[in-house]
Amino acid sequence: MFLKKLNITPARKKALLSAGIQSDWDLLNFAPRRYLDRNSLSPIGSLSGDEETTIAARVIRTEMITRGKKRFEAILADETGQLKCVWFRATGYFSKMIKKGEVITAFGKTKRYGRFLSMAHPEIDFIRNPSENLKTLGTIPVYPGNQFFKKTYITSPVLQQWAISLLEHYKPGEFLPSEILNEFGLPQRGETYRMLHQPESMREALQALKRLKFEELLLFELAVHYLKLRKARRTSHIVVNKPGSLTRRFFNQILPFKLTDGQSSALRDIKNDVSSGVQMNRLLQGDVGSGKTVVALGAMLMLLDHGYQAAFLAPTEVLAEQHFRTLSGYLEPLQTDIRLLTGKRTAKQKREILEQLASGTTQIAVGTHAIIQDNVIFKNLGLVVIDEQHRFGVIQRAHFHKEENSPHVLSMSATPIPRSLAMTVFGKLDISVIKELPSGRKPVRTAVRMEKKRPDVYNFLRNVLKDGGQAYVVFPLVEESEAMDLKNAVAGFEHISREFPEFKAGLLHGKMKPDEKDRVMKAFESGEVHILVSTTVIEVGINVPNASVMIIEHAERFGLSQLHQLRGRIGRGSRQSYCILMADVKQTRIARERLSTMTSSNDGFHIAETDLRLRGPGDFLGTRQSGLPEFKFADLIEDEPMLCEAASLAEKILADHPELDHPSLHTLQDHFFTYLKEKKAFFEMM
Ligand code: ADP
Ligand code: MG
Repeated sequence: MFLKKLNITPARKKALLSAGIQSDWDLLNFAPRRYLDRNSLSPIGSLSGDEETTIAARVIRTEMITRGKKRFEAILADETGQLKCVWFRATGYFSKMIKKGEVITAFGKTKRYGRFLSMAHPEIDFIRNPSENLKTLGTIPVYPGNQFFKKTYITSPVLQQWAISLLEHYKPGEFLPSEILNEFGLPQRGETYRMLHQPESMREALQALKRLKFEELLLFELAVHYLKLRKARRTSHIVVNKPGSLTRRFFNQILPFKLTDGQSSALRDIKNDVSSGVQMNRLLQGDVGSGKTVVALGAMLMLLDHGYQAAFLAPTEVLAEQHFRTLSGYLEPLQTDIRLLTGKRTAKQKREILEQLASGTTQIAVGTHAIIQDNVIFKNLGLVVIDEQHRFGVIQRAHFHKEENSPHVLSMSATPIPRSLAMTVFGKLDISVIKELPSGRKPVRTAVRMEKKRPDVYNFLRNVLKDGGQAYVVFPLVEESEAMDLKNAVAGFEHISREFPEFKAGLLHGKMKPDEKDRVMKAFESGEVHILVSTTVIEVGINVPNASVMIIEHAERFGLSQLHQLRGRIGRGSRQSYCILMADVKQTRIARERLSTMTSSNDGFHIAETDLRLRGPGDFLGTRQSGLPEFKFADLIEDEPMLCEAASLAEKILADHPELDHPSLHTLQDHFFTYLKEKKAFFEMM
């Protein structure tokens, strides 16, 4: 309403839209990025000549000086002294605006030249209308969105003025009970918005932010716990108890190694889940190389033993194909029927597989999201494994949670989310963590090398290859210039083939046909190809234990988590592995920090935390992908203590009043159920 009445030009409207402001409500919630603390007014006589401050004084003389450096000068005076303001290259505008006799406030940095004080290019306000917003005095909001508002003159003072005018007609009503406001020292909601846009002090601005964050986190936690209470008892008819012969034979006769403690305890968790009569929704977290795949296989066998089918989802075709090969290898002696279902199958093949899934002859389906299309019907699907779950969208994951009697779900991820965060955010998910890597692994040694060292790097690589080793050479894939990156990888492949004529190189990139990719991967797995040159398509999940060297080209362009994921492809066998980060001499500070983190640590959690610090949490949790609701004010990582407070408050409220149906909670109840409806898509998945 308010925005409409403003009669905004189309250009401004577009700018507002790109800043996410469509409605009055958006405008109110468009929070300042920071505040300028200009709360003290200094008498001129107290200034030493090296401070940032605001003065209030009368203009006693002005002069436009044209000899030498062209400039406009105004001498200001208060009862305690005089100060000269100077604007270089000033236009006639200044002499028209700043007149003798005006009272102005000026904010800027003071300088002393002998007896004289001056301020160059101060910001000024005219004290004509006392109700006007001053930018030189008080706590001054600075709004974000410069990039959107360029050339539209929607400056911070304009945004502030709009918000203030809007608040004159509209006060957001309170919905939090006063006991909560008191307990946590939060201001009233109407006051909060005034304090956000027109704070009387820095303290008020912080109070407002605190309230808005708390409100956001509380609603979020209420939703998490509300749904947890309701869904916890979602029963499942898929109940399997005793491990049968497939499971026993697999662990006793086929598996070539002993499970790590983490793997065993994850399997125990899963066994408890699937025998409980409640639908399993477990997240299995473990760093790259921790051995999540065999845990998933063990879980699938538990269900197969009792006549159920299982589906194994991977985010990419290359990975689906590799999983298919690994799993088929393990399962061969057990004579289970396992099929690969990806987009590249012919119509005839697909039809055949679909029939077998529907009739129940196929026991395990491995594939990409092609598996969860609506025309795929299983006879009796008991378990869905989702590998690299953070790569899947919410909708795709939600698919398995909608029906009554849905299959058990095991999600796997190598992205370590701090545990307390995971618990509060993914309240309903149960989590198993594999902390250790299989024993006998030698930590990967990582080094950064500049271009001039390339000959040394190649000599080193040649020796490893002579010794029977294999290597990856990885080129970055930056979305904006996919064609360019592809060219890099192709050129790199040709270069490597020339440099190492005695060895065989293979090329793998996203633009290749699926069966070409498949062929190259197989050749690398079998050892026929010695050097695999690729774009980042190998990032997830690929497993070739004999590959012990990875050269990452343009390493400075990769994100930290991505580097760690890539590096996780090596160090999987008994050879000492080496990761060589080829980097440009010119690096940004952040790139340097990323690379040095890589050389100093192999610890996924440490790396994730650093990444988090360098990138900010939105990116890290893959907000868009994980479907986390966007937080306008709160920051899940930075505000974790408040998140925990909100979580225990939410639990307490719901323990006393599971439907929030208490007179003191009525407004909260309304507000909460509206919120829940809006965020339905996300919370349904949890
Ligand atoms: P990720 O957790 O990254 O998916 P994988 O499941 O691909 O890891 O396993 C990585 C490698 O470790 C595979 O070659 C696998 O066979 C091997 N592996 C898994 N568990 C063990 C174990 N307990 N002992 C030795 N090797 C193992
Ligand atoms: Mg994996």
